[in-house]
Amino acid sequence: MPNSKRQLAYVIDLNKCMGCHTCTIACKTLWTNDKGMDHMWWMKVNTMPGKGYPKDWEKMGGGYDANGKLALGRKAEEADYGKPMEFNYEEVFYGGSGNKVHLAPKEKPGWGPNWDEDIASGEYPNAYFFYMPRLCNHCTRPACAEACPYGAIGKREEDGVVLMVDDSKCASCPDHVCMKGCPYKEVFFNPLRNAAQKCDACIPRMEKEVAPACVRQCPGRCIWVGYLDDAEGPVHKLVNEWKVALPLHAEFGTKPNVYYVPPLSPPRLDGDGNVDASQPRIPTDYLRSLFGPGVDSALACLNDEIEKKRNKEESELMNILIVRRWQELLGEFPKDPSEVQA
Ligand code: SF4
Repeated sequence: MPNSKRQLAYVIDLNKCMGCHTCTIACKTLWTNDKGMDHMWWMKVNTMPGKGYPKDWEKMGGGYDANGKLALGRKAEEADYGKPMEFNYEEVFYGGSGNKVHLAPKEKPGWGPNWDEDIASGEYPNAYFFYMPRLCNHCTRPACAEACPYGAIGKREEDGVVLMVDDSKCASCPDHVCMKGCPYKEVFFNPLRNAAQKCDACIPRMEKEVAPACVRQCPGRCIWVGYLDDAEGPVHKLVNEWKVALPLHAEFGTKPNVYYVPPLSPPRLDGDGNVDASQPRIPTDYLRSLFGPGVDSALACLNDEIEKKRNKEESELMNILIVRRWQELLGEFPKDPSEVQA
């Protein structure tokens, strides 16, 4: 697949994500609110450590092996997304049973989006978790597209967005290999359209200079969008200059373009409740398993720059991360949706 001229990228600051799911709902309302799309969450917020969505996606395989060869994994099935839940509305509202019957799923559910939300790891008093919004990484080497034998998925030359270019071709593909190729499990199958569907980075908005919905709606000001080659932009600075924004599971080999500022954490407490400042609450080994070895220097850099601010010194990094004006998040897509034609 030829390289794109520019590469769109996102940075997500995990220290600011509060797990409100506004990004999730903005995306769902705009793009996956149609028939056959119940299980599609192109943007979702996983509690980490956790099994995520689809369940245990990190263990399903895909991407490239150590020699750079495409390595298909398995695709997510209904049980991994969780069966759509049917509720007993008729019984509760029209059944005449008063308050003897309560609203509940008709079938006992086994999994679903946010199933393990806010469930911590570690042991009291050192329990921990953090939130991680996830969307398609618009990879520089998209395994979804390389896996597809019909050329149904493409990568745009002008901005590096990975999108379905011809989903009519999916009907010829009984095996949904794009889903096996993507190691992040960001391609979904719509059984009613008989076609794969995925995040397209809100192209119809971006082409009118309106930022993707997940970025624009985030009340925590924690998602930036921009081009990696924009040397003055926050995305470039956080990824390439300050090197505090890191790709998730770079070992999958797809060169993902969603970057994360890793979470800082309070120190551990010992058995008597005293602070043990020698160790962070979130084990660094766990963060290394997500973001690679660069996480040590990223965390050290964040701590150093926070210290500067505490000492009333200037810090360009902290000024970027604070985002005093929320429009700083929007890169080359500053327009309000109301300014452009629907
Ligand atoms: Fe393709 Fe998955 Fe990469 Fe998105 S995250 S571009 S779906 S391989």
